[in-house]
Amino acid sequence: MAGGMDLIGLMKNYVLQPDVIVALGDVGGLSQIEATDDGGLRIGAMVTIADIAADDHIRTNYPALAAAAAAVGTPQIRNRGTIGGNLCQRPRCWYFRSEYYDCLRKEGSACFAVDGDNRYHAIFDTAPCPIVHPSNVAVALQAYGANVVVAGPGADGALSVESMAMGDFFVRPANNVHQENVLYHDQIVAAIELTGTTANSASYTIKHKQSHDWPLAMASVVLDMNGDTVNSANIVMGAVAPIPWRAEGAEQYLVGQTVTIGSAEEAADRAVADAEPMEHNAYKVRLARTAVKRAILEAAGVDWTTG
Ligand SMILES: Cc1cc2nc3c(=O)[nH]c(=O)nc-3n(C[C@H](O)[C@H](O)[C@H](O)COP(=O)(O)OP(=O)(O)OC[C@H]3O[C@@H](n4cnc5c(N)ncnc54)[C@H](O)[C@@H]3O)c2cc1C
Ligand code: SF4
Repeated sequence: MAGGMDLIGLMKNYVLQPDVIVALGDVGGLSQIEATDDGGLRIGAMVTIADIAADDHIRTNYPALAAAAAAVGTPQIRNRGTIGGNLCQRPRCWYFRSEYYDCLRKEGSACFAVDGDNRYHAIFDTAPCPIVHPSNVAVALQAYGANVVVAGPGADGALSVESMAMGDFFVRPANNVHQENVLYHDQIVAAIELTGTTANSASYTIKHKQSHDWPLAMASVVLDMNGDTVNSANIVMGAVAPIPWRAEGAEQYLVGQTVTIGSAEEAADRAVADAEPMEHNAYKVRLARTAVKRAILEAAGVDWTTG
């Protein structure tokens, strides 16, 4: 347990009843934000979301991460919740959170969201379990190409510390419907590592309520610019798929483009071109498109309020 914001809720709902809880609060070396020798940053797993949102270095050099952190929940949740816990929080699917539904993810035999109330569920990668990954922060971290440092006994039981790409950390339900990441039972996230800095970056989050809510859709965009022209683009969408979802078609389109409202709209169209909304969540396609468009414009310093 880190901040307990997610774990305690699951216990109160009788979804999890652990025999033993290991609190990470007293483990040394997990609570620092440190510059690394290669000009990057190492964020310990117990650093709070509030500290990430407020950190001057992160706000200047990784603005998409600062914005994604600032959009999490409420001040109380950001003050208590940690980045390790945020990445490892369990899905918000209401069937998963109810003790009365033994769905696929809980070793049951059916997904109740398929024919049920799926208004907040995925619009990409919807089978066999259309959860959306609940972490805002993971979306920005993946756009920056962050690594996750995993520590503890691995498959062979030997203690190890391993650094892996954020994209390899999360698990698609088609590969394993019972867990959202690759951690073995006794492994923990020890830190997040960021290399380089990219000021041309932004996150845009769309919520039902401005506070106390997970996003309905979000996007993080990191651009490598040569003057007004895009050299390369990383575009990742959140709250639309079981893992942070890369918009590769949009990334490819933007290379060599000047960022204008028109090119951002074209990229956003491509980002959602393959969406497969469920019965009750087609509205999310439009929200995701808007989030991508505005994040691209903001990353390039173009005023999106005019388009
Ligand atoms: C009302 C509400 C609104 C919220 N809104 C948002 C939002 O908009 N966006 C968003 O991204 N999040 C949101 N959250 C989630 C919140 O940010 C997370 O609950 C919080 O970050 C979890 O962190 P924690 O430290 O409390 O984790 P805990 O509850 O302690 O742990 C969560 C899970 O992660 C595991 N865990 C914790 N730390 C580690 C570690 N270092 N290594 C391995 N496993 C670990 C635990 O075993 C547990 O399974 C919201 C939460 C609430 C309650
Ligand atoms: S979407 Fe996933 S977590 Fe939700 S009911 Fe279906 S199988 Fe369970």
